[in-house]
Amino acid sequence: MPELAYVNGTWSTIEAACVSIDDRGFQFGDGVYEVIRSYDGRLWALDRHLRRLEHSMRAIALTGAPTAEVKPRIIELFERGQMREGVVYLQVTRGVAPRRHAYNAGGQPTVVMTVRAQHAVDIQLYASGVPAITVPEIRWSRRDIKSTNLLGNILAKQRAVESGAYEAIFVEADGRVTEGSSTNVFIVRKGCLLTREKGPHILAGITRDLIVETALEQGISVEERPFTVEEMRAADELFLTGTGTEVLGVVTLDQQRIQMGRVGDLTRALLDAFHERVRQARDD
Ligand code: PMP
Repeated sequence: MPELAYVNGTWSTIEAACVSIDDRGFQFGDGVYEVIRSYDGRLWALDRHLRRLEHSMRAIALTGAPTAEVKPRIIELFERGQMREGVVYLQVTRGVAPRRHAYNAGGQPTVVMTVRAQHAVDIQLYASGVPAITVPEIRWSRRDIKSTNLLGNILAKQRAVESGAYEAIFVEADGRVTEGSSTNVFIVRKGCLLTREKGPHILAGITRDLIVETALEQGISVEERPFTVEEMRAADELFLTGTGTEVLGVVTLDQQRIQMGRVGDLTRALLDAFHERVRQARDD
């Protein structure tokens, strides 16, 4: 199971791969990325990830790496890696240039990809649920762009880890919840799902969308709107979604139990339904 890297057409081991220190990704975080996983030797939701990549690139006027050209490279990387349960990391930056804030439109972007084995979430955590903390939302106002510039997310996740929690959930100054540092957030109230609407406040998570669609298919009602930290604390269930995280119950928030401190029934049912969808390879 070789772990491999690709940098602008050059294939190598991950250790041997390199980019210039003048790359704007390194200097400024001037780039966007995607993380795509596979299940049983098949890349999951590849086209959805490519559509989101296109959205991110368009939003920052990053040209020169059309997804129609990137897609076959991703597939080739994945095939070379021969992973059944793998993760493709893909980053497109605005490329190498003398360090100046303003950029020259039409420069040559840097495309970096790696394929590695997937390190799945400890299966026990799906049964036990995880602790989370709340943190002030300090990030910029374009969280729909999957930017490599992740300082706010990193600082939040570090706080979570240092306090023994799995995730940090961002709360805006007016009390509205946005998302986790690397996940989307759902609450359950009276059998209905509630999650933040798509838009600049959150990343449009691929797993989020799949869970919304799966819930609707099963006749579960879904509201996509802002909700407050008080609504979250009082929720019947609280869970996180993400490519690596799948559907993971949160059982304590800031050390206070959510309901009985157990993973909720709807959370479990949605995780099962998600796995069924994966088995059916239904990711269009
Ligand atoms: N929000 C943020 C900030 C994230 O980094 C991620 C992980 N990419 C998500 C949500 C979940 O998105 P996805 O389901 O596409 O992995």
